[in-house]
Amino acid sequence: MRFSDFGAIFGGPTGIMDLMDDMGKALAGGVPMLMLGGGNPAHISPVNDLWRRQLTEILAEEGKMERMLANYDTPQGQPSFIRALTELLNREFGWSLGPENVAITNGSQTAFYLLFNMLTGAYGRSDDSRPGRILFPLMPEYIGYADQTMSPDNFIACRPLIERLGDHLHKYHVDFTALEERLAASASGGERICAICVSRPTNPSGNVLTDQEMTTLDELARRYQVPLIVDNAYGIPFPHIIFDDVIDGSAQPLWNENIVLGMSLSKIGLPGTRTGIMVARPEIVSALSRANAVLSLANTTVGQYLVEPLLRDGSLLEVARKTIMPFYRERAEHAHRVFAQVFPDNLPWSVHRTEGSLFVWLWMEGLPISSRELYERLKKRGVLVVPGEYFFFGDPDLAEWPHSRECLRINYGQDPAVVEEGLKIIADEVLRAYG
Ligand code: PLP
Repeated sequence: MRFSDFGAIFGGPTGIMDLMDDMGKALAGGVPMLMLGGGNPAHISPVNDLWRRQLTEILAEEGKMERMLANYDTPQGQPSFIRALTELLNREFGWSLGPENVAITNGSQTAFYLLFNMLTGAYGRSDDSRPGRILFPLMPEYIGYADQTMSPDNFIACRPLIERLGDHLHKYHVDFTALEERLAASASGGERICAICVSRPTNPSGNVLTDQEMTTLDELARRYQVPLIVDNAYGIPFPHIIFDDVIDGSAQPLWNENIVLGMSLSKIGLPGTRTGIMVARPEIVSALSRANAVLSLANTTVGQYLVEPLLRDGSLLEVARKTIMPFYRERAEHAHRVFAQVFPDNLPWSVHRTEGSLFVWLWMEGLPISSRELYERLKKRGVLVVPGEYFFFGDPDLAEWPHSRECLRINYGQDPAVVEEGLKIIADEVLRAYG
Protein backbone atom coordinates (compact mmCIF):
# COMPACT_ATOMS: atom_id res chain seq x y z
CA MET A 1 0.00 0.00 0.00
CA ARG A 2 1.15 3.54 -0.64
CA PHE A 3 0.03 6.62 1.23
CA SER A 4 -0.97 9.61 -0.87
CA ASP A 5 0.73 12.96 -0.19
CA PHE A 6 -2.06 13.65 2.29
CA GLY A 7 -1.74 10.21 3.91
CA ALA A 8 2.03 10.57 4.15
CA ILE A 9 1.58 13.51 6.51
CA PHE A 10 0.08 11.14 9.07
CA GLY A 11 1.71 7.91 7.93
CA GLY A 12 5.22 9.27 8.43
CA PRO A 13 6.89 10.64 11.54
CA THR A 14 5.89 14.02 12.95
CA GLY A 15 7.96 15.80 15.60
CA ILE A 16 5.11 16.16 18.04
CA MET A 17 3.85 12.58 17.65
CA ASP A 18 7.34 11.17 18.15
CA LEU A 19 7.78 13.24 21.26
CA MET A 20 4.36 12.27 22.67
CA ASP A 21 5.14 8.63 21.90
CA ASP A 22 8.49 8.91 23.63
CA MET A 23 6.85 10.44 26.70
CA GLY A 24 4.16 7.73 26.66
CA LYS A 25 6.84 5.02 26.57
CA ALA A 26 8.74 6.69 29.39
CA LEU A 27 5.56 6.67 31.48
CA ALA A 28 4.83 3.03 30.67
CA GLY A 29 8.42 2.03 31.47
CA GLY A 30 7.66 1.29 35.11
CA VAL A 31 9.87 4.08 36.51
CA PRO A 32 7.74 6.59 38.44
CA MET A 33 7.83 9.85 36.50
CA LEU A 34 7.42 13.44 37.63
CA MET A 35 5.09 14.67 34.91
CA LEU A 36 5.97 18.28 34.11
CA GLY A 37 5.62 17.79 30.39
CA GLY A 38 2.03 17.67 29.17
CA GLY A 39 -0.54 20.40 28.70
CA ASN A 40 -3.32 18.83 30.73
CA PRO A 41 -5.18 21.31 32.88
CA ALA A 42 -5.05 20.63 36.63
CA HIS A 43 -7.93 18.87 38.36
CA ILE A 44 -9.38 21.63 40.53
CA SER A 45 -11.81 20.10 43.09
CA PRO A 46 -14.40 22.91 43.24
CA VAL A 47 -14.46 23.03 39.44
CA ASN A 48 -14.95 19.28 39.20
CA ASP A 49 -17.76 19.62 41.77
CA LEU A 50 -19.38 22.12 39.44
CA TRP A 51 -19.30 19.64 36.53
CA ARG A 52 -20.75 16.98 38.81
CA ARG A 53 -23.64 19.33 39.69
CA GLN A 54 -24.20 20.23 36.06
CA LEU A 55 -24.34 16.55 35.11
CA THR A 56 -26.81 15.85 37.91
CA GLU A 57 -29.05 18.66 36.70
CA ILE A 58 -28.96 17.31 33.16
CA LEU A 59 -29.97 13.87 34.42
CA ALA A 60 -32.76 15.37 36.54
CA GLU A 61 -34.38 17.34 33.71
CA GLU A 62 -36.89 15.36 31.69
CA GLY A 63 -35.50 14.49 28.24
CA LYS A 64 -32.28 16.53 28.55
CA MET A 65 -29.86 13.64 28.74
CA GLU A 66 -31.54 12.10 25.69
CA ARG A 67 -31.19 15.35 23.74
CA MET A 68 -27.52 15.56 24.75
CA LEU A 69 -26.51 11.99 24.00
CA ALA A 70 -29.01 10.59 21.56
CA ASN A 71 -29.05 13.34 18.92
CA TYR A 72 -26.50 14.54 16.41
CA ASP A 73 -25.67 18.19 16.92
CA THR A 74 -25.85 20.57 13.95
CA PRO A 75 -22.48 21.02 12.18
CA GLN A 76 -22.23 24.62 13.43
CA GLY A 77 -22.93 23.71 17.07
CA GLN A 78 -25.93 23.88 19.45
CA PRO A 79 -27.94 27.00 18.53
CA SER A 80 -28.83 27.67 22.18
CA PHE A 81 -25.18 27.35 23.28
CA ILE A 82 -24.09 29.72 20.52
CA ARG A 83 -26.81 32.22 21.49
CA ALA A 84 -25.79 32.07 25.18
CA LEU A 85 -22.14 32.59 24.21
CA THR A 86 -22.69 35.51 21.84
CA GLU A 87 -24.98 37.23 24.36
CA LEU A 88 -22.30 36.85 27.05
CA LEU A 89 -19.49 38.14 24.82
CA ASN A 90 -21.62 41.06 23.62
CA ARG A 91 -22.54 41.92 27.20
CA GLU A 92 -18.96 41.69 28.45
CA PHE A 93 -17.09 43.37 25.60
CA GLY A 94 -19.67 45.47 23.78
CA TRP A 95 -19.34 43.40 20.59
CA SER A 96 -22.28 42.79 18.27
CA LEU A 97 -21.92 39.12 17.46
CA GLY A 98 -24.77 37.11 16.04
CA PRO A 99 -25.11 33.34 15.72
CA GLU A 100 -23.51 33.64 12.27
CA ASN A 101 -20.23 34.55 14.02
CA VAL A 102 -19.64 31.32 15.98
CA ALA A 103 -18.69 27.81 14.94
CA ILE A 104 -18.17 24.98 17.40
CA THR A 105 -15.56 22.34 16.59
CA ASN A 106 -14.41 19.11 18.19
CA GLY A 107 -11.67 20.83 20.16
CA SER A 108 -10.00 24.06 19.07
CA GLN A 109 -7.04 21.98 17.78
CA THR A 110 -9.32 20.72 14.99
CA ALA A 111 -10.38 24.26 14.18
CA PHE A 112 -6.76 25.40 13.79
CA TYR A 113 -6.05 22.44 11.51
CA LEU A 114 -9.03 23.36 9.35
CA LEU A 115 -8.31 27.07 9.33
CA PHE A 116 -4.61 26.68 8.56
CA ASN A 117 -5.37 24.38 5.66
CA MET A 118 -8.17 26.58 4.37
CA LEU A 119 -5.74 29.48 4.22
CA THR A 120 -2.28 28.08 3.39
CA GLY A 121 -0.90 26.38 0.31
CA ALA A 122 -1.82 26.83 -3.32
CA TYR A 123 -4.57 29.12 -4.61
CA GLY A 124 -5.52 27.22 -7.75
CA ARG A 125 -8.22 29.60 -8.87
CA SER A 126 -6.36 32.83 -8.23
CA ASP A 127 -3.86 34.56 -10.47
CA ASP A 128 -1.35 34.58 -7.60
CA SER A 129 0.57 31.30 -7.72
CA ARG A 130 2.56 31.90 -4.52
CA PRO A 131 1.56 29.44 -1.75
CA GLY A 132 0.04 31.09 1.33
CA ARG A 133 1.94 30.94 4.60
CA ILE A 134 0.89 31.61 8.21
CA LEU A 135 3.05 34.21 9.93
CA PHE A 136 3.77 33.74 13.64
CA PRO A 137 4.87 37.13 14.98
CA LEU A 138 6.38 35.72 18.13
CA MET A 139 8.22 32.42 18.25
CA PRO A 140 8.30 30.23 20.40
CA GLU A 141 4.70 29.23 19.69
CA TYR A 142 2.30 26.38 20.44
CA ILE A 143 3.84 23.04 19.41
CA GLY A 144 0.41 21.79 18.34
CA TYR A 145 0.45 24.04 15.24
CA ALA A 146 3.73 22.63 14.00
CA ASP A 147 2.56 19.66 11.96
CA GLN A 148 -0.84 20.97 11.00
CA THR A 149 -0.41 22.21 7.46
CA MET A 150 -0.09 20.11 4.31
CA SER A 151 3.47 21.35 3.87
CA PRO A 152 5.99 22.27 6.59
CA ASP A 153 6.97 25.25 4.40
CA ASN A 154 3.63 26.91 5.08
CA PHE A 155 4.84 28.83 8.12
CA ILE A 156 6.94 31.96 8.59
CA ALA A 157 8.04 33.12 12.02
CA CYS A 158 9.67 36.11 13.69
CA ARG A 159 12.03 35.89 16.64
CA PRO A 160 10.95 37.85 19.70
CA LEU A 161 12.76 40.75 21.28
CA ILE A 162 13.88 39.72 24.75
CA GLU A 163 13.46 42.17 27.61
CA ARG A 164 15.50 41.43 30.73
CA LEU A 165 13.38 42.07 33.80
CA GLY A 166 15.95 40.90 36.35
CA ASP A 167 18.93 38.57 36.72
CA HIS A 168 16.69 35.53 36.28
CA LEU A 169 13.54 36.93 34.67
CA HIS A 170 12.75 37.97 31.10
CA LYS A 171 9.84 38.71 28.77
CA TYR A 172 9.33 38.39 25.03
CA HIS A 173 7.96 41.19 22.86
CA VAL A 174 6.90 41.23 19.23
CA ASP A 175 9.61 42.65 16.96
CA PHE A 176 7.28 44.87 14.93
CA THR A 177 10.06 46.05 12.62
CA ALA A 178 10.86 42.48 11.55
CA LEU A 179 7.15 41.68 11.34
CA GLU A 180 6.36 44.61 9.11
CA GLU A 181 9.33 43.81 6.87
CA ARG A 182 7.88 40.32 6.36
CA LEU A 183 4.42 41.70 5.60
CA ALA A 184 5.79 44.34 3.23
CA ALA A 185 7.87 41.68 1.44
CA SER A 186 4.72 39.60 0.98
CA ALA A 187 2.84 42.61 -0.42
CA SER A 188 5.59 43.27 -2.93
CA GLY A 189 5.79 39.76 -4.38
CA GLY A 190 7.88 37.84 -1.77
CA GLU A 191 6.68 34.85 0.23
CA ARG A 192 2.93 35.19 0.48
CA ILE A 193 1.57 35.66 3.99
CA CYS A 194 -2.06 34.55 4.21
CA ALA A 195 -2.70 35.08 7.94
CA ILE A 196 -1.06 36.13 11.18
CA CYS A 197 -1.47 33.80 14.17
CA VAL A 198 -0.69 34.21 17.86
CA SER A 199 -1.62 32.41 21.04
CA ARG A 200 -2.46 34.80 23.85
CA PRO A 201 -1.48 33.78 26.55
CA THR A 202 1.28 32.01 24.71
CA ASN A 203 1.90 28.35 25.13
CA PRO A 204 4.86 27.70 25.87
CA SER A 205 6.29 30.93 27.32
CA GLY A 206 3.39 32.17 29.44
CA ASN A 207 3.71 35.54 27.69
CA VAL A 208 0.59 37.66 27.30
CA LEU A 209 0.69 40.14 24.42
CA THR A 210 -0.25 43.55 25.72
CA ASP A 211 -3.39 45.35 24.54
CA GLN A 212 -1.10 47.75 22.68
CA GLU A 213 0.71 44.89 20.91
CA MET A 214 -2.67 43.41 19.96
CA THR A 215 -3.92 46.72 18.58
CA THR A 216 -0.78 47.05 16.46
CA LEU A 217 -1.09 43.46 15.22
CA ASP A 218 -4.73 44.15 14.34
CA GLU A 219 -3.81 47.33 12.44
CA LEU A 220 -1.04 45.56 10.53
CA ALA A 221 -3.26 42.61 9.67
CA ARG A 222 -5.93 44.94 8.30
CA ARG A 223 -3.44 47.11 6.44
CA TYR A 224 -1.94 44.05 4.72
CA GLN A 225 -5.37 42.46 4.28
CA VAL A 226 -4.72 39.19 6.06
CA PRO A 227 -6.82 37.73 8.87
CA LEU A 228 -5.46 37.80 12.42
CA ILE A 229 -5.96 34.48 14.22
CA VAL A 230 -5.84 34.82 18.00
CA ASP A 231 -5.73 31.63 20.03
CA ASN A 232 -7.43 32.48 23.29
CA ALA A 233 -7.33 28.93 24.76
CA TYR A 234 -6.06 30.30 28.12
CA GLY A 235 -7.47 33.79 27.84
CA ILE A 236 -10.28 36.06 28.90
CA PRO A 237 -13.20 35.68 29.60
CA PHE A 238 -12.62 31.97 30.28
CA PRO A 239 -10.56 30.13 31.50
CA HIS A 240 -8.95 33.47 32.47
CA ILE A 241 -5.52 31.93 33.12
CA ILE A 242 -4.09 35.43 32.84
CA PHE A 243 -2.55 36.94 35.94
CA ASP A 244 -3.98 40.45 36.01
CA ASP A 245 -1.60 41.58 38.75
CA VAL A 246 1.48 40.49 36.75
CA ILE A 247 0.77 41.71 33.22
CA ASP A 248 1.37 45.23 32.00
CA GLY A 249 -2.09 46.84 31.81
CA SER A 250 -5.00 44.63 30.81
CA ALA A 251 -5.44 41.74 28.38
CA GLN A 252 -8.89 42.37 26.97
CA PRO A 253 -9.87 40.16 24.06
CA LEU A 254 -10.13 41.90 20.73
CA TRP A 255 -12.54 41.04 17.95
CA ASN A 256 -13.60 42.49 14.63
CA GLU A 257 -14.47 40.97 11.25
CA ASN A 258 -10.78 40.54 10.43
CA ILE A 259 -10.04 38.55 13.61
CA VAL A 260 -10.63 34.85 14.18
CA LEU A 261 -10.79 34.33 17.93
CA GLY A 262 -10.22 30.74 19.02
CA MET A 263 -11.63 29.65 22.37
CA SER A 264 -11.96 26.30 24.10
CA LEU A 265 -13.65 24.57 27.02
CA SER A 266 -10.52 22.50 27.65
CA LYS A 267 -8.67 24.72 30.08
CA ILE A 268 -11.72 25.34 32.26
CA GLY A 269 -11.28 21.66 33.01
CA LEU A 270 -13.24 19.96 30.22
CA PRO A 271 -10.61 18.72 27.73
CA GLY A 272 -12.40 15.38 27.51
CA THR A 273 -15.50 17.02 26.00
CA ARG A 274 -13.49 18.27 22.97
CA THR A 275 -15.24 21.60 22.56
CA GLY A 276 -13.60 24.35 20.52
CA ILE A 277 -15.23 27.69 19.73
CA MET A 278 -14.30 29.91 16.79
CA VAL A 279 -15.57 33.48 16.70
CA ALA A 280 -15.19 34.77 13.16
CA ARG A 281 -16.81 36.44 10.18
CA PRO A 282 -19.74 34.45 8.71
CA GLU A 283 -17.77 33.25 5.69
CA ILE A 284 -15.28 31.47 7.97
CA VAL A 285 -17.99 30.15 10.32
CA SER A 286 -19.82 28.69 7.37
CA ALA A 287 -16.66 27.03 5.98
CA LEU A 288 -15.82 25.54 9.40
CA SER A 289 -19.38 24.25 9.80
CA ARG A 290 -19.25 22.58 6.40
CA ALA A 291 -15.88 21.05 7.25
CA ASN A 292 -17.41 19.72 10.49
CA ALA A 293 -20.18 18.09 8.49
CA VAL A 294 -17.71 16.47 6.09
CA LEU A 295 -15.23 15.31 8.73
CA SER A 296 -17.42 14.33 11.63
CA LEU A 297 -21.08 15.09 10.76
CA ALA A 298 -21.54 16.96 14.01
CA ASN A 299 -19.86 18.23 17.15
CA THR A 300 -19.68 16.66 20.55
CA THR A 301 -22.54 18.00 22.65
CA VAL A 302 -21.57 17.21 26.24
CA GLY A 303 -19.40 20.29 26.86
CA GLN A 304 -21.98 22.58 25.32
CA TYR A 305 -24.76 21.13 27.52
CA LEU A 306 -22.64 21.35 30.69
CA VAL A 307 -21.57 24.93 30.13
CA GLU A 308 -24.56 26.63 28.49
CA PRO A 309 -26.41 27.44 31.75
CA LEU A 310 -23.19 28.96 33.15
CA LEU A 311 -22.90 31.19 30.10
CA ARG A 312 -26.52 32.27 30.37
CA ASP A 313 -26.19 33.44 33.96
CA GLY A 314 -22.55 34.52 33.53
CA SER A 315 -21.40 32.36 36.44
CA LEU A 316 -18.67 30.73 34.33
CA LEU A 317 -16.80 34.03 34.38
CA GLU A 318 -16.98 34.10 38.19
CA VAL A 319 -15.62 30.54 38.35
CA ALA A 320 -12.79 31.47 35.96
CA ARG A 321 -11.87 34.67 37.83
CA LYS A 322 -12.36 33.49 41.38
CA THR A 323 -11.40 29.81 41.27
CA ILE A 324 -9.45 28.84 38.15
CA MET A 325 -7.19 31.88 37.85
CA PRO A 326 -6.24 32.08 41.57
CA PHE A 327 -5.48 28.34 41.57
CA TYR A 328 -2.96 28.71 38.74
CA ARG A 329 -1.67 32.03 40.09
CA GLU A 330 -0.73 30.37 43.36
CA ARG A 331 0.90 27.39 41.62
CA ALA A 332 2.88 29.67 39.27
CA GLU A 333 4.09 31.78 42.18
CA HIS A 334 5.13 28.63 44.02
CA ALA A 335 7.09 27.40 40.97
CA HIS A 336 8.91 30.74 40.69
CA ARG A 337 9.82 30.60 44.40
CA VAL A 338 11.20 27.08 43.99
CA PHE A 339 13.24 28.16 40.95
CA ALA A 340 14.88 30.87 43.02
CA GLN A 341 15.63 28.37 45.79
CA VAL A 342 17.03 25.50 43.74
CA PHE A 343 18.79 27.15 40.77
CA PRO A 344 22.26 28.49 41.57
CA ASP A 345 22.34 32.26 41.40
CA ASN A 346 25.61 32.28 39.44
CA LEU A 347 24.22 30.30 36.48
CA PRO A 348 22.77 32.22 33.52
CA TRP A 349 19.25 30.78 33.87
CA SER A 350 16.18 32.91 33.37
CA VAL A 351 12.47 32.20 33.44
CA HIS A 352 9.95 34.05 31.32
CA ARG A 353 7.57 36.11 33.45
CA THR A 354 4.57 33.82 33.85
CA GLU A 355 1.73 36.11 32.82
CA GLY A 356 -0.68 33.30 31.99
CA SER A 357 -1.11 29.73 30.62
CA LEU A 358 0.00 26.57 32.42
CA PHE A 359 3.73 26.77 31.82
CA VAL A 360 6.98 28.13 33.11
CA TRP A 361 9.51 28.67 30.34
CA LEU A 362 13.12 28.24 31.36
CA TRP A 363 15.96 29.72 29.31
CA MET A 364 19.51 28.57 30.00
CA GLU A 365 21.73 30.92 28.05
CA GLY A 366 24.83 29.31 26.55
CA LEU A 367 23.72 25.82 27.63
CA PRO A 368 26.47 23.50 26.34
CA ILE A 369 23.97 20.76 25.37
CA SER A 370 20.72 20.99 23.41
CA SER A 371 17.39 21.06 25.24
CA ARG A 372 16.60 17.72 23.55
CA GLU A 373 19.70 16.21 25.17
CA LEU A 374 18.71 17.75 28.50
CA TYR A 375 15.23 16.23 28.07
CA GLU A 376 16.83 12.78 27.58
CA ARG A 377 18.98 13.18 30.68
CA LEU A 378 16.01 14.34 32.75
CA LYS A 379 13.89 11.46 31.49
CA LYS A 380 16.52 9.02 32.79
CA ARG A 381 16.16 10.69 36.19
CA GLY A 382 12.38 10.42 36.18
CA VAL A 383 11.41 13.97 35.13
CA LEU A 384 9.39 14.65 31.99
CA VAL A 385 9.46 18.14 30.48
CA VAL A 386 9.17 19.34 26.87
CA PRO A 387 12.40 20.39 25.10
CA GLY A 388 12.15 23.96 23.88
CA GLU A 389 13.32 23.37 20.33
CA TYR A 390 9.93 21.91 19.36
CA PHE A 391 8.35 25.33 19.90
CA PHE A 392 10.57 27.07 17.34
CA PHE A 393 9.17 25.83 14.05
CA GLY A 394 8.30 27.18 10.67
CA ASP A 395 11.47 28.98 9.73
CA PRO A 396 14.92 27.46 9.01
CA ASP A 397 16.39 30.67 10.39
CA LEU A 398 15.14 29.73 13.88
CA ALA A 399 17.22 26.56 14.02
CA GLU A 400 20.32 28.76 13.64
CA TRP A 401 19.40 30.70 16.74
CA PRO A 402 21.06 29.22 19.88
CA HIS A 403 18.15 30.45 22.02
CA SER A 404 15.94 27.84 20.32
CA ARG A 405 18.00 25.02 21.86
CA GLU A 406 18.37 26.58 25.31
CA CYS A 407 14.82 26.41 26.68
CA LEU A 408 12.50 23.97 28.45
CA ARG A 409 8.75 24.06 28.99
CA ILE A 410 7.61 23.00 32.43
CA ASN A 411 3.95 22.50 33.43
CA TYR A 412 3.71 24.19 36.83
CA GLY A 413 0.07 23.20 37.49
CA GLN A 414 0.94 19.82 39.00
CA ASP A 415 1.00 18.99 42.68
CA PRO A 416 3.45 21.44 44.35
CA ALA A 417 5.50 18.59 45.84
CA VAL A 418 5.95 17.09 42.35
CA VAL A 419 6.95 20.48 40.90
CA GLU A 420 9.43 21.00 43.73
CA GLU A 421 11.05 17.60 43.35
CA GLY A 422 11.14 17.94 39.56
CA LEU A 423 12.71 21.40 39.67
CA LYS A 424 15.42 20.21 42.07
CA ILE A 425 16.40 17.47 39.61
CA ILE A 426 16.26 19.89 36.66
CA ALA A 427 18.49 22.36 38.52
CA ASP A 428 20.96 19.59 39.30
CA GLU A 429 21.10 18.39 35.67
CA VAL A 430 21.45 21.94 34.37
CA LEU A 431 24.34 22.53 36.78
CA ARG A 432 26.03 19.33 35.54
CA ALA A 433 25.45 20.35 31.92
CA TYR A 434 27.21 23.67 32.47
CA GLY A 435 29.99 21.66 34.11
N1 PLP B 1 -4.18 26.26 21.59
C1 PLP B 1 -3.29 26.20 22.59
C2 PLP B 1 -2.39 27.37 22.81
C3 PLP B 1 -3.19 25.06 23.39
O1 PLP B 1 -2.29 25.02 24.37
C4 PLP B 1 -4.06 23.97 23.14
C5 PLP B 1 -3.99 22.74 23.92
O2 PLP B 1 -3.17 22.53 24.77
C6 PLP B 1 -4.97 24.09 22.08
C7 PLP B 1 -5.02 25.25 21.33
C8 PLP B 1 -5.92 22.99 21.72
O3 PLP B 1 -6.86 22.78 22.73
P1 PLP B 1 -8.21 22.00 22.52
O4 PLP B 1 -8.16 21.27 21.21
O5 PLP B 1 -8.27 21.06 23.68
O6 PLP B 1 -9.31 23.02 22.52
